[in-house]
Amino acid sequence: MINFEYTRANNISDAVRQIAADSSAKFIAGGTNLLDLMKEDVEQPTHLIDISHLPLTKVEENTDGGLRIGALVPNSDLAWHPLVAKRYPVLGSAILAGASAQLRNMASTGGNLMQRTRCFYFYDTVTPCNKRDPGSGCSAIKGLNRINAILGTSEACIATHPSDMCVALAVLDAKVHVTGPSGDRTIALTDFHRLPGDTPQRDTNLNPNEIITAIELPPQGFSKNYTYLKIRDRLSYAFALVSVAVGLEMDGKTIRQARFAVGGVAHKPWRDQSAEALLNGQQATPETYRRAADHLLRDAKGYGHNDFKIELARRTIVRGLTQAANGTPQSQSNKKIA
Ligand SMILES: Cc1cc2nc3c(=O)[nH]c(=O)nc-3n(C[C@H](O)[C@H](O)[C@H](O)COP(=O)(O)OP(=O)(O)OC[C@H]3O[C@@H](n4cnc5c(N)ncnc54)[C@H](O)[C@@H]3O)c2cc1C
Ligand code: SF4
Repeated sequence: MINFEYTRANNISDAVRQIAADSSAKFIAGGTNLLDLMKEDVEQPTHLIDISHLPLTKVEENTDGGLRIGALVPNSDLAWHPLVAKRYPVLGSAILAGASAQLRNMASTGGNLMQRTRCFYFYDTVTPCNKRDPGSGCSAIKGLNRINAILGTSEACIATHPSDMCVALAVLDAKVHVTGPSGDRTIALTDFHRLPGDTPQRDTNLNPNEIITAIELPPQGFSKNYTYLKIRDRLSYAFALVSVAVGLEMDGKTIRQARFAVGGVAHKPWRDQSAEALLNGQQATPETYRRAADHLLRDAKGYGHNDFKIELARRTIVRGLTQAANGTPQSQSNKKIA
């Protein structure tokens, strides 16, 4: 690890001032991703700005019935918060499906959004990787790509975004509040992460001198018919091969409104409103679910080792929709294999 300067931010404007003044600086919140990347020499910030003492640790109710979640709320506190558990259980389920209890205690809401890909070559500094070293090439395309993307890929990068929490946030139509030198702005969660294109070094649309301050959830929480289904190599402490977050509004056996997003398949949580439209107003049947899954996966492309993900994603979507419609959520605290 290289030497680095360490400072603390006293307030949000101080944090923005410090990051804008030093292009090699990075914020550190829980440190569970950034410190690993520094130890592996993947990231080399010469200045860490500790934001962990900023007053961004509250979950507050908005007047419209939605929630505002501070960027420093620990993942554990968010998952178990009574208002999240009651109104947005898909979010709690997704968070609890990730990492370990110790990591979730340290990991922050903002840091979870900003965590970087788990592509093996990104972590292996002796191999070419356009995300780590732009222009050097992509080792995964012809290499070991079992965990890599099948949707929205480019010739420069086929990495996936590893977050579970963000897949649920995509379904909930969350918004990300950020502050920078020219003031505050809001980014829809579905626009926050980018596709790799020819600039895979940029994971998000956050500008380098901006800080995430909060996540906002609208009132609709899908508290009756939801699921977060995560398929992985081990039942705990592993990233998703494929995951699906589903929120349905049901009228008997008819789907009045459907939302679903898929994780582990792309550089961002993959949500496709034209696939959701195939479910709206339809009877909740396996045939309906298959049509929506096939549509979402119409442009899916495998790279050899990860070809299996296309069929796995199809089955995961169908099973997730089935569970959500039946009101039998799959969650970390209610695991089922059937
Ligand atoms: C062994 C292991 C297993 C894991 N398994 C899973 C899993 O299954 N599912 C899953 O979703 N995650 C998993 N994680 C990832 C974990 O969720 C993330 O490391 C964590 O959420 C990052 O939060 P943090 O506060 O520690 O971020 P940090 O490490 O402090 O920061 C990460 C990045 O975010 C930036 N940042 C942090 N806060 C802000 C802010 N407010 N504004 C702007 N930038 C900011 C930092 O500059 C840095 O670039 C795992 C991690 C480990 C180590
Ligand atoms: S897929 Fe992306 S992160 Fe992985 S080696 Fe290729 S460029 Fe790097």
